[in-house]
Amino acid sequence: MVHKPPPSKASGASDTIHHLGAGFRQTGPAGRFEPRLRRLLESRVIRTGEQYRDSIRDGREIYVNGERVRDVGTHPMFKPLVEIRARIHDMAHEAATSDIMSYEEAGERFAIANRLPRRAEDWWDKRRATDTVLEDIGGVVTRVGDETVGEMWSLHDGQDVLNEADPQYARNIAAHISRVIANDPFHVSANTDPKGDRSKPPQEQDPDMLLHVVKETDAGIVVRGAKYETAAAYANQAFVKPTIANWGNDAYSDYAVGFICDLSSPNLKFICRTGFAGRAPAEDYPLANRFDEVDTLLVFDNVLIPWENVLFHRHTKAAAFIRATLHRYSAFAFVQRNLKLADMMIGAALFNARQTGLEREQAVQEKLARLAVYREGINAHLTAAVTLAEPSPGGLLMPNQSLLYCGRVLACSELHHMMHIARELCGGQICVTPDKAAFEAPETRPWLEKFYTVNANWTAEDRRRLLAFARDLLNSDYAGHRLTFQLFAQSPPFAHLAAVWRNFGWDGPLAFVRKSAGLSDRVMPGAAPLAGDPAVRQWFSANPPPHKAAR
Ligand SMILES: Cc1cc2nc3c(=O)[nH]c(=O)nc-3n(C[C@H](O)[C@H](O)[C@H](O)COP(=O)(O)OP(=O)(O)OC[C@H]3O[C@@H](n4cnc5c(N)ncnc54)[C@H](O)[C@@H]3O)c2cc1C
Repeated sequence: MVHKPPPSKASGASDTIHHLGAGFRQTGPAGRFEPRLRRLLESRVIRTGEQYRDSIRDGREIYVNGERVRDVGTHPMFKPLVEIRARIHDMAHEAATSDIMSYEEAGERFAIANRLPRRAEDWWDKRRATDTVLEDIGGVVTRVGDETVGEMWSLHDGQDVLNEADPQYARNIAAHISRVIANDPFHVSANTDPKGDRSKPPQEQDPDMLLHVVKETDAGIVVRGAKYETAAAYANQAFVKPTIANWGNDAYSDYAVGFICDLSSPNLKFICRTGFAGRAPAEDYPLANRFDEVDTLLVFDNVLIPWENVLFHRHTKAAAFIRATLHRYSAFAFVQRNLKLADMMIGAALFNARQTGLEREQAVQEKLARLAVYREGINAHLTAAVTLAEPSPGGLLMPNQSLLYCGRVLACSELHHMMHIARELCGGQICVTPDKAAFEAPETRPWLEKFYTVNANWTAEDRRRLLAFARDLLNSDYAGHRLTFQLFAQSPPFAHLAAVWRNFGWDGPLAFVRKSAGLSDRVMPGAAPLAGDPAVRQWFSANPPPHKAAR
């Protein structure tokens, strides 16, 4: 194996990366990037939808349904999401939404999603921008960039850990964060490997089951393996980092690697699952046809990662750090999607109950109230997580970690239950209603007009549309996929609970029970005396939460 040159060798380029805040002042090596990414990095005007579309026309090797995709931007299974991503860029240019989607600094505009969160207002700005996008497109998409970018901020919080291996790694992540702010590439997340037989270490099976480094050269590292990545086929770059493994074990050190992968790099293969768009008419499956975010098995067939893109390497401590902190920011945007899904379920169920006159039944009202409690539970966690936000080790403002991770468990673990309530409220007609073609065919139209017209306000066409919407939200293949996405896409449920375990303040309940039960000091040596609920304590402390401090 070639000996790894010190990563600092890669940092000699002279071009200046845009300065954004004291912690992120960098000069960086944009001159060493692949030509396509370099062009992107050198542009300084906020990106347009057309520039994004152009950026993914790079001849990448994409397959779906066993066939090569020649142009991802126009392929029917990918086009809807490419257009949504382009729309997000264009909204930053339109007068009506420019101030919501972007901000100005030093005379230039930047995407609000990429702004480093330093104040509570930054989180409210992000929440509003995401909401504006979802309302503009009329549905829920998650992996469009704002939900993944915060993973980089988590690694930046681990500067001390990275510095233990080589300070250049901390400089590399800071440079990449600055570049994302300056250039707004579509950034996705790559954690999950195929993994193979979990009872064996990777060396005792096909070693590529976990992505690993096979070679080090003067130019960078060469990696092999594969990652599951939603949206990778139409994105610009991925933050690739290790999946869950036993990071205390040196046998994993070739696998303890994190880097930014330019998705136009040679030797990448994008093997996508089949898309939902185009399988059936959009009138019958209005969500599947517009909002399906195609997932990719991204194969790294000896891909060169330049040193300036390497964020850590042979560093099990960094791997363990990023696994434990990965979603400290990005869970906010992820959980926010569940809020909108809840609104969609409430709207579909209430419209259905209202049009059929069932809204007046107390039992129906109670079910609707359960949906509202779920919705407001998520809202309360998001709102409180910002109100009681916490400083991060890297000088940013994290949503309150315990509240955010508890909100994620609430949002994801109760979703199937809420879908069940909404499905029950929408009734069996979402599953037995004929398709749009039957509503138009001369032989069947009069019968369907007759039986689907409820009253003067609810004619057959509106009822058909509502039932088609509810079916695609609750019953279709796409609905099942969406549920699994919310359950797994930001790590599996056991990892969500592990994050709660790590971040909840266990000492509070212990101290209260110790006092209430009259337990001795021996059960909790060195425990501080009871000093109130942590939220109340934070409110009245010398370092109050940002919301209070701002007044
Ligand atoms: C729609 C969708 C989109 C996705 N998008 C992305 C993406 O963009 N980027 C990305 O990196 N990943 C993505 N993923 C992958 C996702 O993160 C993984 O599915 C998840 O990490 C679980 O890995 P696995 O599927 O290999 O399940 P496994 O690791 O096989 O686990 C299966 C189940 O086994 C149990 N289990 C396994 N290990 C443990 C343990 N240590 N403790 C307790 N229980 C355990 C749990 O019940 C777990 O759910 C996506 C997944 C889905 C379904």
